[in-house]
Amino acid sequence: MSEIVVAKTSGFCFGVNRAVETVNNLLKEGKKVCTLGEIIHNPHIIKDFEKKGVKIVSSPSETPADYTIVIRSHGCVKEDLEFIKKNNIDFVDATCPFVKKIHKIAEANKENSQILLAAGNPDHPEMIGIRSYFIGKSYVFSSKGDLRKMIEDDVVSPKNSIIMLSQTTFSKKEWKDCTNLASEVFTNIKVYDTICNTTNSRQEEAEKLSKSSDLMIVVGGKKSSNTRKLYEICKKNAETILVESVENLPDINYKKYTKIGIIAGASTPVELVEKIKAFLGG
Ligand code: SF4
Repeated sequence: MSEIVVAKTSGFCFGVNRAVETVNNLLKEGKKVCTLGEIIHNPHIIKDFEKKGVKIVSSPSETPADYTIVIRSHGCVKEDLEFIKKNNIDFVDATCPFVKKIHKIAEANKENSQILLAAGNPDHPEMIGIRSYFIGKSYVFSSKGDLRKMIEDDVVSPKNSIIMLSQTTFSKKEWKDCTNLASEVFTNIKVYDTICNTTNSRQEEAEKLSKSSDLMIVVGGKKSSNTRKLYEICKKNAETILVESVENLPDINYKKYTKIGIIAGASTPVELVEKIKAFLGG
């Protein structure tokens, strides 16, 4: 029989838990709730909220009358928050404090002459939000190679005044490589390590557990950035599958593995992990 080990860091992170609880509490108070985008990248939670009448809007202007709009843990663009306030729309800002901190760093730049270099995914809502708080040019890179190319192509010059930070879910290892390169090239740079500690501990545990397992099961939404990072880390060390729930587990012989590790992204409820563990006989 295989040994089944669930990572200690599995389950909702602080920021996601806070956002989900915000919606739950508003519903308990009898409020009509909508969220600006999906509250978290987890289809099970989204479906559950949908059953409870929670609507998803893509812009604050779509907030139905009498509804409270909740801003999710990733945050939103500055203009959306301004629109909500200007139009007196009832709202709760559940932006994770770690993301808020990055907004403040970006907003503190009052000089147009500065350039923001941000590590992460340019299409991720958290990154789109971060960039909206920065006055001046901003560029996003996803790896040391990407950053090197930007420098070689003269997108950014060593003479520029640079602020460098990252998306909260960026890989710690890749970040270290990028900051090493940046400190070799740029003379006028301020570096802010904005990777969230939760992300960091999860990534470290993923690395450790995958090194000692022959199969890794990563549980989380396909759109979740931190889940994908965990998948990438694990697959370097062990055979790895990414599933959203027990129903998605491929039909393979799990008994052939000596040790199966299970780790979940920050937006995965712990019940989904428990169901997988039970299915495997753990
Ligand atoms: S991963 Fe970190 S930054 Fe993102 S919501 Fe969770 S606690 Fe906040």
